[in-house]
Amino acid sequence: MPNRPISLTCIMCPRGCTLTVDENNVVTGHKCGRGPKYAISELAEPKRELATTVRLVNSAFRRLPVKVSGEVSKEQIPAIMAYSNTITVQAPVKMGDVIVKNVLNLGVDLIATCDMHLK
Ligand code: SF4
Repeated sequence: MPNRPISLTCIMCPRGCTLTVDENNVVTGHKCGRGPKYAISELAEPKRELATTVRLVNSAFRRLPVKVSGEVSKEQIPAIMAYSNTITVQAPVKMGDVIVKNVLNLGVDLIATCDMHLK
């Protein structure tokens, strides 16, 4: 565990408060209640939302923008990115379509973030 106190920047909104977490997990520096939640979660298991693209065929576009349906551990991001590079989707696709259910058994889905029509 890193030495305390630890400083980190809250990324939950554009204000970017500088948070400090002491040895008792007491958080200071936040301007709203989301800061402490973020700081404790970030130190325990950093999580992120993730958006990427997958290969698309039968469309004027070659890539389909997708996102993961929930936050994933930062450690899992390289595996998800590598996996998404193996996927090919056929147009047409509707925004919100589930492209892959339960990606890598992580409990999140890969979701299309826009419509893609046939070529
Ligand atoms: S603590 Fe609240 S106000 Fe400050 S950056 Fe985080 S979300 Fe924004």
